[in-house]
Amino acid sequence: MDCDEFRSRGKEMVEYICSYMQNLESRRVTPNIEPGYLRKLIPEQAPDAPEAWEHIMEDVEKKIMPGVTHWQHPRFHAYFPSGNSYPSILGDMLAAGVGCIGFSWASSPALTELETIVLDWLGKAIGLPDQFLAFKEGSRGGGVIQTSASECVLVSMLAARAQALKRLKHQHPFVEEGLLLSKLMAYCSREAHSCVEKAAMICFVKLRILEPDEKSSLRGKTLMMAMEEDETMGLIPFFVSTTLGTTSCCSFDNLTEIGQVCNKFPCVWLHVDGAYAGNAFICPELKYLLSGIEYADSFNTNPNKWLLTNFDCSTYWVRDRIRLTSALVVDPLYLQHGYSDATIDYRHWGVPLSRRFRSLKLWFVLRSYGISGLQKYIRNHIRLAKKFEGLVLKDRRFEICNEVKLALVCFRLKGSDKLNEKLLSNINASGKLHMVPSNVNDKYVIRFCVVAANAEEADVDHAWEVIRDFADELLEVNIA
Ligand code: PLP
Repeated sequence: MDCDEFRSRGKEMVEYICSYMQNLESRRVTPNIEPGYLRKLIPEQAPDAPEAWEHIMEDVEKKIMPGVTHWQHPRFHAYFPSGNSYPSILGDMLAAGVGCIGFSWASSPALTELETIVLDWLGKAIGLPDQFLAFKEGSRGGGVIQTSASECVLVSMLAARAQALKRLKHQHPFVEEGLLLSKLMAYCSREAHSCVEKAAMICFVKLRILEPDEKSSLRGKTLMMAMEEDETMGLIPFFVSTTLGTTSCCSFDNLTEIGQVCNKFPCVWLHVDGAYAGNAFICPELKYLLSGIEYADSFNTNPNKWLLTNFDCSTYWVRDRIRLTSALVVDPLYLQHGYSDATIDYRHWGVPLSRRFRSLKLWFVLRSYGISGLQKYIRNHIRLAKKFEGLVLKDRRFEICNEVKLALVCFRLKGSDKLNEKLLSNINASGKLHMVPSNVNDKYVIRFCVVAANAEEADVDHAWEVIRDFADELLEVNIA
């Protein structure tokens, strides 16, 4: 494809995307296919000869789209949102076009500098303490874009582990490192995302999973008891991962209590995972949910979930960047440059070496919508979730199972888990709506998340109508 063809194919692609977005409702929200469907439609080998673009695009509509789950569909209410917007798509397109790689400042200065600036913009908008910002007098912190929240948790744990081992080696210079590692203990709530467990597997450390209270919030007292107990057993608490906005029910750990407990132990790294909810803190009325952040060593939120920014864009801030990078620095000659002392080299802030120009799309989004536009978007979703909650509460056959603070409502039919499993599976099989289940206080619940960028009241009304119809049918059958 030459430049002229790219120009015209590019216009066609934009047209295809616009038409996809505008006509999403004409598609089923979830695919109606069986596993392995694509294997039968696509040749076993890559073509030897070049193929015409028309044929490739024909296959997109004929073969790929039937197997796509449409996350931007107005009837999609599963998981958390997959951020999307036209400015963000354009930002990603530009990043792909420029095609630069930013592992060090010198490898692409604008990539590094824009990332640092935009992370300061967002950090300020969220209300992070000044210590997390790169351009504050006396600050040792700063932000970076990672691929995912899982990676943010992993690098936090790696940094915490390196810091703990350094301290222990200093205290016990003749004890083998493997033995010291076997003493390290990390903590999280049962409600924490499974990525914490995965990080502990990768870091080869023990993880103690703690019981939250009846509101699915991890409390300081529970953590304190566990850490004290472990210390008496000769173990060494070194890392605590908390969640603001849990995946299953959007509950909030008590960060202030937990932070105070962490302060009683030497050298414990406190991470705060706000993958979904963190985005909402750009609204002044929701900043109270961030209280206790002053105790944190690191914080992450995913604009690629709830801030109109395409995957991947997981924003991550640390209070002390040296404590992070000292766990991750390797510095071969071919990556060194003359400005290392005065600049940021983001390759030391995460696992991969190569990094895309991801800040462009976030910059486009922040500028195109403005903070006020993003606040309006978040508030609209919360307003619609509250409306949905109200509809559920009016129907005495149902109950609400979480505190609806943001745009996730957990609900269920009063009755057995089996009944609710059946309800959800009937709804999902119909392709009329898509929701996923979770477990709240040992009960099977259905999660309804407002996710579509331009969600409206009519979408909530429609969803409720579908749910009620399926419930009517199911309860009738059950009674009969
Ligand atoms: N943490 C929380 C609270 C989440 O809700 C999720 C995913 O939904 C994750 C972490 C994992 O996110 P990622 O896919 O960015 O690794």
